[in-house]
Amino acid sequence: MAANYCASRFQSIRRNSRIVSIGKIPIGGRHPVRIQSMTTTDTLNVAGTVKQTIELAEAGCEIVRITAPNVRAAQALGEIAKEVRSAGFDIPLVADIHFLPQAAMEAAKHVEKVRVNPGNYADRKNFKIREYSDSQYEKELSRLHQSFSPLVLRCKELGRSMRIGTNHGSLSDRIMNRFGDSPRGMAESALEFIRIARSHNYHDLVLSMKASNPKVMIEAYRLVVSLMNEEDMDYPLHLGVTEAGDGEDARIKSAIGIGSLLLDGLGDTIRVSLTEDPVAEIPVARDLARRAESWWTYERKDLFEQIEKIDPFSFHRRESSNISLSPRGLSIGGKHPPAVFAHSSHSLPETAKIVSTLANVQVSSKDAPVEGLILTLRNSADLTHLAMLRSSLLGAVNCLIIDDQRDGSDDDSIPHHRPNLVPLLWHAQNATIDSASLARFLTLCEASGNQAVLSVDPKSLDEGISTILANTATPLIITLNPHNCENLVSGYRELVLYISTLGILSPIWIRNNENSNLFTEDDSFSARLLDSSILSGSLLCDGIGDILSVEHTDSLDRNRGLTYNILQGARARISKTEFIACPSCGRTLFDLQSTTHRVKQATGHLKGVTIAVMGCIVNGPGEMADADFGYVGSGPGKIDLYVGKNRVKSAISENDAVDQLVQLIQEEDKWIAP
Ligand code: SF4
Repeated sequence: MAANYCASRFQSIRRNSRIVSIGKIPIGGRHPVRIQSMTTTDTLNVAGTVKQTIELAEAGCEIVRITAPNVRAAQALGEIAKEVRSAGFDIPLVADIHFLPQAAMEAAKHVEKVRVNPGNYADRKNFKIREYSDSQYEKELSRLHQSFSPLVLRCKELGRSMRIGTNHGSLSDRIMNRFGDSPRGMAESALEFIRIARSHNYHDLVLSMKASNPKVMIEAYRLVVSLMNEEDMDYPLHLGVTEAGDGEDARIKSAIGIGSLLLDGLGDTIRVSLTEDPVAEIPVARDLARRAESWWTYERKDLFEQIEKIDPFSFHRRESSNISLSPRGLSIGGKHPPAVFAHSSHSLPETAKIVSTLANVQVSSKDAPVEGLILTLRNSADLTHLAMLRSSLLGAVNCLIIDDQRDGSDDDSIPHHRPNLVPLLWHAQNATIDSASLARFLTLCEASGNQAVLSVDPKSLDEGISTILANTATPLIITLNPHNCENLVSGYRELVLYISTLGILSPIWIRNNENSNLFTEDDSFSARLLDSSILSGSLLCDGIGDILSVEHTDSLDRNRGLTYNILQGARARISKTEFIACPSCGRTLFDLQSTTHRVKQATGHLKGVTIAVMGCIVNGPGEMADADFGYVGSGPGKIDLYVGKNRVKSAISENDAVDQLVQLIQEEDKWIAP
C-alpha cells in the first residue's frame, strides 16, 4: 500500500488539516498542537470537577474533557461550565460520552465539544449475528444514521464541535464482524460516523484512533488519514495512546505513539493519558507538542521523493542478516529480538570499575541483561587494558563494542579475535569518510576476526564507498552517522533504503546518544527519555532495528533499563509484565493509582503477561483489548476479574481483589515465583 498518509516519510511536513474551533480554541491548519486532558473527579461533584478543571488550565491545558456517564451528569456540566467561566477561565470543555445518546444531547447544550465513541454510541454488543449480509449491514447503517443524526443537528445548531473517538477493543459488532478488532476496523468505524455528519453538511469534526498498543495506534491513524484522503476529508486529529498506565513506561508508550505520528506530520491536538494526577500529563504533552512544532515544515524542501518498500499500515519486521557472535552465542538480526547494548561511562583504564559495575547490573537484571557493553577507545595505549577486560568479562557479557575514537593516523591496531575472550564489535567513527578509509577498516576487521560496525551517512556517500559496501562479503552492522540529518527518523529510513538498493541486509543499530537529540532546547533527562522513545519507537514500529542502545545517562543500569523499557513500549521485545491502566475518570469508583501500584507490586515479575487495571465496567472490558487478565471496577468497592475477555469473578471485595487476581493467575498457570 502506498504511503499516502503523509506528505513525506523523509521530511516532517505537517498535514494540511481543516481548522475546527473548540469554543475559542482553533485546532488544525497551522495552529499550534493543542494540549488536552481529562478530569478524574465524579462529574456530580461539581466543586471538585471545577477545581480540577482550573488546576489543569493553570498548568497549561488548553481543552478539558469531563465524563458524562448519564443525563444527570450531562446536566451537571452546565453548572461546571458556569462556575469555571465565572472563575475567569474560558477553557473549552468537552463531554465524554459512551453509550447514551440522551446524555450527549443534553451535554451539547452546555459544553463546546462532545466526544462520542463510535463503537458504542448507538450499538450494543450482543454478537447474535456473526456474519452480516450486505443488506443487513445497510440496515444497520441506516439505524445508525437515525440514532446519530439528532446529535449532529444539535451540534450544528449550537455551534459545537464533535470528536469521533474510536478505541481499539471498543468497536461495534457490525465493524468487528466485517473488519475485526483491527486498525482497518477502527478507521471504518470512524468513517461511518463522519459520513453521516457530512450528509448533514456538518464538518466541525475531530478524529481519534486510540489504542494501548502504540503499533496498533500508529497504524490506525495512518490508515484513517489515508482513507480520508481518498474521500477528500481533511478533519484534524486528536492523538493519544490510551490506557498507557503510569510512570516511565506510560511516558515511553505515549512518546512512541504520539511522537511517531507527529514526526509523520500528523496530529493537531494531543492527550498524554497517565494513571496519575491529570496535571502530570501537561508537561509531557507540551514537550511532545513543542518538538513537533520545531520539526515541522509546511512545504517540501526536496522535491525528489524516495520510494520505500514498506507497508505503513501493517507491521512487518525488516529482513536482515543473522550475525552470530562466538563464543557466547549472541545472535543479532534475522528473527532474533533486538539486542540490548549499553554504554559504560568508565574509561578503559578503569577496568576494575567496569567489571564490578557490570557484574552488579547483570546479577540484578537476569531477565534483561546487558548483551553488549559499549566502551570508548580514545588512544592506542588503552588497548592494553582491553586485553585484561576481555578476559575478566568472559561469561559476564556477550560482546564488547569498541567505539574507536582514535585519530585516523593511530587506528591501525585492532586486537585479534580469540575464542577464549569476549568477542569484539569494532566501530570506527570515521571509517566511511572516504573509500580508502573504509577499505582499510574492513581489511583490519577481517584480518583481526572482529565484527565491523559502520556509521553511515546516506547523504554523503560516493560511488567508491557504495561499491565497497555492495561487494563486502562479511555481514556488517550498520548505524546512522547523524551528521547531516535534520530528522533522525528520516535519516534511518534513508539509510535503510540506501543499503537495500545496494542489496545489503545488515542489522541496524539504533543509537540514542548525545548525537541523536530530536529537540535541542532541552537537555533534561525527561527530554532525552522522550527523544529516545520517539526515535527508537518510530523505527521499531516501522520494523527497523536489530540492536538498541540508550546512552543518555552515566548509569549503566539506567541505560540498560531504558533500552528494555523502550523495546517493551514498542512491543519489540517483552522483558517484564505489560501493564495497561486507564487514566480513570468520573466513572471510576476506586483509587486507581494506588490499586495499579499494588497490582504492579504483586505481579510485576510476570514476564510476558499483560494485566489491565480498568476503572469501570462500562468501558474497561472492551478497552483492555489484548490483556491476559483484567482487574475492573464494577461498583463501589467491588471488582470483577477477567481472563482475556471473559469475566470469571464478579463483585469481589476490593480488599481481596489483588490476592484473588494472583490466585487466578496461578490457576491459569501463568504464575512464577517472584
Ligand atoms: S475505563 Fe477508565 S477512563 Fe475509561 S471510562 Fe472507564 S473509568 Fe473512565
